[in-house]
Amino acid sequence: IIFGSEQMKKNKEKSLEYGHIIEQMTLEEKASLMSGGNFWNTKSIERLGIPSMMLTDGPHGLRKQGGKADHLGLNKSLPATCFPTAATLANSWDIDLVSQVGRRLGKEAAGEEVSVLLGPGLNIKRNPLCGRNFEYFSEDPYLTGKMAASMIRGVQEEGVSACPKHFAVNSQETHRMCVDEIVDLRALHEMYLEGFRYAVCEGEAKAIMTSYNKVNGVYTNENMELLQDILTDEWGYDGLIVTDWGGNNDRVEGLKAGNQLEMPSTSGATDRDIVQAVKNGNLDVAMLDSRVDSLLHIIFDTKDALGKGKGFTYQEHHELAVEAALKSTVLLKNDGVLPLTDQEEKISIIGDFAKNPRYQGAGSSLINAINVDNFLDEFTNVGYNVIGYEKGFKRLGGKSEKLKNAAVQLAKKSDKVILYLGLDEGSEAEGIDRPTLSLTANQLELFNAVYEVNSNIIVLLAGGSPVEMPFVKKAKAIVHGYLPGQGGGEALAKIISGEVNPSGKLSESYPIKYSDVSSAKIYPGKEATSEHRESIYFGYRYYDTANVKVLFPFGYGLSYTTFAYEHLVVNGNDVKFSVKNTGDIDGEEVVQLYVHAKESKVFRAEKELKGFAKVKLAAGESKDVLMTLDEHAFAYYNIDRNNWVVEEGEYEILIGASSKDIRLVQKVDVKGEEVQSPYNREQLKAYYKCDVQNLTKVDFENLIGRPLPKEQWERDKKLGYNDMIVQAKDSGFFGKALYKFFNWTKKLLRKIGKPITANNVMFVMELPFRSIARMSAGKVNEDMLDGILMMLNGNFFKGFTHYIKAYFRYRKY
Ligand code: BGC
Repeated sequence: IIFGSEQMKKNKEKSLEYGHIIEQMTLEEKASLMSGGNFWNTKSIERLGIPSMMLTDGPHGLRKQGGKADHLGLNKSLPATCFPTAATLANSWDIDLVSQVGRRLGKEAAGEEVSVLLGPGLNIKRNPLCGRNFEYFSEDPYLTGKMAASMIRGVQEEGVSACPKHFAVNSQETHRMCVDEIVDLRALHEMYLEGFRYAVCEGEAKAIMTSYNKVNGVYTNENMELLQDILTDEWGYDGLIVTDWGGNNDRVEGLKAGNQLEMPSTSGATDRDIVQAVKNGNLDVAMLDSRVDSLLHIIFDTKDALGKGKGFTYQEHHELAVEAALKSTVLLKNDGVLPLTDQEEKISIIGDFAKNPRYQGAGSSLINAINVDNFLDEFTNVGYNVIGYEKGFKRLGGKSEKLKNAAVQLAKKSDKVILYLGLDEGSEAEGIDRPTLSLTANQLELFNAVYEVNSNIIVLLAGGSPVEMPFVKKAKAIVHGYLPGQGGGEALAKIISGEVNPSGKLSESYPIKYSDVSSAKIYPGKEATSEHRESIYFGYRYYDTANVKVLFPFGYGLSYTTFAYEHLVVNGNDVKFSVKNTGDIDGEEVVQLYVHAKESKVFRAEKELKGFAKVKLAAGESKDVLMTLDEHAFAYYNIDRNNWVVEEGEYEILIGASSKDIRLVQKVDVKGEEVQSPYNREQLKAYYKCDVQNLTKVDFENLIGRPLPKEQWERDKKLGYNDMIVQAKDSGFFGKALYKFFNWTKKLLRKIGKPITANNVMFVMELPFRSIARMSAGKVNEDMLDGILMMLNGNFFKGFTHYIKAYFRYRKY
């Protein structure tokens, strides 16, 4: 059920709420409010009583920086509770839990006088290699939307604002600040926007952050179709639209499209663009007034909550972090070895992650966690006979016979081995995509070496996204903790010991190998564009339609008990069935509702998730589950009508324990419309057959109905504001040298074991030149930037002189 839109529509019709303040402002003052006063705060205007407002990261904890500011996770922030990341929380499928986490985040934000918490992140997982997937919920828009909406409502119950991000189609980190994501309208609405629709309409978000990338040729922050037609007009959104940090391209175009705030500060440079545009008639002052009004609305709306969130203890928040990790842990395999009941048998613990937990991701979401527990201590404390711990492998990859041998010796002496494998800090991070779906070779070698001496291996996994598991058949059990936040150690110990029955299920599919992924051959886009040729077909929508086998399906997870499903009745939009705990211990089951269209004039996925619930059942207990289908349950997005339509016909309601484990089926006749297909079936044969891996450019052009823009950067032109620093490699001598220097530094940092710093170098190389002027807080202005570009474009001395002159002009100014 979508709440709120009607109210929002009414709000839109209201006249300026803060007209009495705005009419006292000068043009310069109005423009000045449209960008940050520093890295995290808006500007204040004391004479009018307008306070500055703080916005800060991030999705799974508060990242309020006390000292030096940055958005890369470089400088420390104040201690805060680190909850599980979104990828982890989504495995709980528990919207009440997620809303509780939201509330606690809201309390910590309010307590630290932060008005806008920059999260949740809800980009859709198009491909498992996206470096930032750990910060996002799912490959499925419905699950994503429901999770995001409940987190937003939780945060906002505390009077501050959440800020869903990054709107929209931020599907890859490679060249994220400039890449043009080419996506057909149907996939855009059904896959990439649907989660945001729930976030806005059901979550009633008060703020939203645009992404860095372009969508179909236009930067999202200037994209009229996204920000006006869809977000504002269709969904009735009237909250704050803020750029991602440094994500503004053309200030005035952004403002016209609906943006009200550019972050961080540009030291007034882009405010002057706004003043100029009003003076020369390019921007209507009434439009500027309405943008100012929206900004004032959120400033005053959140003001009263600030400083009031103190009614909590960090201990309470830690306990919730543990609970959230517990409910999100996924038992992937168990041949009966778990839970470990025999406290006498000799257990060895191997793997660096057991002692030095990997519990969160890297980049702008990096939390300075208050109190991080680790599995080794927590498990040992339960009272098991732990005979030793060995690190086993070098965390960042690379051979070490010494570590491996020590682990093997320990394994030999044990009855059972708990082997903790996973992804390291540098391999999943903001700003870069993962190069591979594989764990490092040294971890896989270690598994095999241990297996040779002891086959009783329980694998624990850390990491925020899927990995290939060549050991799947050999391991006796596999438990995935994902990135569980600061309470992950305790949570895993409780699951292994059986004190808590696992109830998490995967919110994304696990392919057997990377080449099975529908966009494997085209992801990430090479240079200028990223073509979403696979359209709606990714995740289980692809695997189930194309009959591709997976390692673990979407929605899958085991329990220490078993459940039976019965008595499905569908009555209009109400779906009722019962679930029974058929085992002899208490447990929780995530039940899922999928819709299958029996016949359709358009190509459709085999099934789509349209409902879910987490049901708590005591041993032997049975409960009725009631789900209500919402207005998009049977609908698809029709590109001719520019709207969602329901085709009249036969559908099936599928109730399952995962996308592959359907337990109950009920046919339903849906009264919809007789709709013409907007597609030419002959031309789009490959889509109708779901032959997605082999789609050609022509197939995709037929789908989007226009020629594709060039994939490559233009090479025979001079570098400009919107080109990236990395493109300097194709420029003159100075540019090439600069590129080589950065590249060499990056490699060196990786070699000396500083992968996160290396990633940050990479991040700098990926910046567009315009960002040097926007993000240096005035240290390099556009005039100086012109000099730099001249130097790179082959006019070194002319550029250098220009730069120096510009520098002194700036000093004088
Ligand atoms: C990230 C955002 C984050 C912002 C502020 C950007 O680089 O993409 O998610 O909120 O920085 O740290």
